[in-house]
Amino acid sequence: MECVDPEFATFLSPFVEALDQHASAAYGLWPDLRLAYFNPSWFAFAAANDGEPDISSRWPLGASIADLPAPPLSNFYRILFGRCLATNSRREFEYDCSSADVDRRFHMVIRPLGKAAGLLIINTLRLEHPHDESLRPKHDAIEQQYRDRNGIIRMCMNCRGINRLSNPAAWDWVPAWVRVLPDNVSHGLCPVCASFYMAQLNDSTVSI
Ligand SMILES: [Zn+2]
Repeated sequence: MECVDPEFATFLSPFVEALDQHASAAYGLWPDLRLAYFNPSWFAFAAANDGEPDISSRWPLGASIADLPAPPLSNFYRILFGRCLATNSRREFEYDCSSADVDRRFHMVIRPLGKAAGLLIINTLRLEHPHDESLRPKHDAIEQQYRDRNGIIRMCMNCRGINRLSNPAAWDWVPAWVRVLPDNVSHGLCPVCASFYMAQLNDSTVSI
């Protein structure tokens, strides 16, 4: 698979060798948020997490991350990336990206390229450890407890918790559905994760 838009390569040239060797997964975006670059670690991470070949076919060069099937997150990134471009400033924050077996925390750096010519996003693994059952007990994938009358299961796209029908304030850890995504999942954010992302924007006048 092609990994850099030839036009975008111009802006990357000071860093491209380092990025090719970098253990962190990196990607580049045009100002309209279309994908313009992936480093080798991006593909390695996707493959190691059983994301390939789906990720490469769903998110090739030219696809827009504004089309992420998770409106709160796509709105969040649209606002954050737009600010980095508008102010030509770098931003960083930490986020969860756990698998069924391990809790993981990543650090994201967003760096403008050229004069608002694009963005470079670097994702570095900061923390990885097995799930702590005492903090987040495991729940079985029981459809009747989670699938609503419209046939929808609500999953938080950040912490991957599943909203419990009998207690809408509860977002349970159901590893079987993290391993294999069930049909008809609505991709949103639980209240805790939504407030975390809102705090990153530090602006009460916008909502995601
Ligand atoms: Zn959450």
